[in-house]
Amino acid sequence: MKPMLIVISAPSGGGKSTLCDRLLQDYPEIVYSVSCTTREPRGSEEDGIDYHFLSRAAFDRLVADKAFLEHAEVHGNGYGTLVAPIREAFAEGLSVILDIDVQGAGQIRDYLKALPGNDPLRIRFVDIFIMPPSLEVLRARLEARGEDSPETIERRMKNAQDEIAKANQYRFRILNDDLDAAYRDLCGILDAMDGVAGEADRRAREAEKGEGERP
Ligand code: 5GP
Repeated sequence: MKPMLIVISAPSGGGKSTLCDRLLQDYPEIVYSVSCTTREPRGSEEDGIDYHFLSRAAFDRLVADKAFLEHAEVHGNGYGTLVAPIREAFAEGLSVILDIDVQGAGQIRDYLKALPGNDPLRIRFVDIFIMPPSLEVLRARLEARGEDSPETIERRMKNAQDEIAKANQYRFRILNDDLDAAYRDLCGILDAMDGVAGEADRRAREAEKGEGERP
């Protein structure tokens, strides 16, 4: 696989983490994007592995320097995805997977749109929304997980409805009614997009060459 910028979104309980973990296990050429945050580390979380834990001043400086591909405030803390490590991964031939919400994905699309047409990040971008089979199934999964209070489940359900309503902003949607089938779909999309992006790379190179040759 040539480097790809892979954005995956799903409502909480949608099976996104399981699918991402499987992808990372099966494809050593895909790395996970470690976000920055201003919140304190929790439990066994490690700096540079779970998050890059930053002071508010350092985070704000990165925002001002336009170092983030996207960033957001969540529950009073800053969260963001740095551009530089993604570019470094691409330079090493690695793909990067971003587990990001619908809003973050929208910011990334805007960021990419502002880049030159032949920028590898723009050419080799794929966004995928994982759809739960139904809201009832999603609720049942959240309840079975047993991690959330009834209030949190209600909030997550409301968020899920809002996110599902925006699923058509994504180039691909995968229905996760069966994890193995959803994983096969995911791998199929990445294989297909590798070919499509390869063709776009070729066209961008030819366009550059054509410009160079113009008198
Ligand atoms: P937590 O603090 O529980 O790890 O994450 C809180 C929220 O921040 C989650 O909804 C998570 O998806 C979101 N989040 C984590 N990293 C990023 C990021 O890089 N960008 C954005 N926009 N949100 C993030």
